[in-house]
Amino acid sequence: MSLKEPTNMNELLYFTRRTIDEKGKIMAWVFKKQCPECKKGTMEKPTDDKGKTKIRAKEYVCPECNHKETSDELEDSVKLNIKYTCPFCGFEGETQIPYKRKSYKGTKAFVFLCEKCNEKIPITKKMKRMKKK
Ligand SMILES: [Zn+2]
Ligand SMILES: [Zn+2]
Repeated sequence: MSLKEPTNMNELLYFTRRTIDEKGKIMAWVFKKQCPECKKGTMEKPTDDKGKTKIRAKEYVCPECNHKETSDELEDSVKLNIKYTCPFCGFEGETQIPYKRKSYKGTKAFVFLCEKCNEKIPITKKMKRMKKK
């Protein structure tokens, strides 16, 4: 698999770059979805009167034709692209998972499996420092 890498933050809904422990590395991103109605705009979070993005809005809107989708609908139809170096076995791989956070050790995270060693690798909202033993 060869993922299309982002070239511009403006084309992304989500982007993160993390390191896990000493050797694990993750880059994850989601491309904006093209509007299924007009095929011209991309689905964006709505903005308020002052043009500020409403980050907490539960819907996305196409600025070209005003087509709306709920966050759930949109998130069901896009994929989270991940490039990683596994913190457990050092394998370098790429994968795609649904853009849905799951419960992981009491927090919400995108969770994927290393293709090589099958360990679960979480992308938490904010990476907590792993406790040193
Ligand atoms: Zn549209
Ligand atoms: Zn691994």
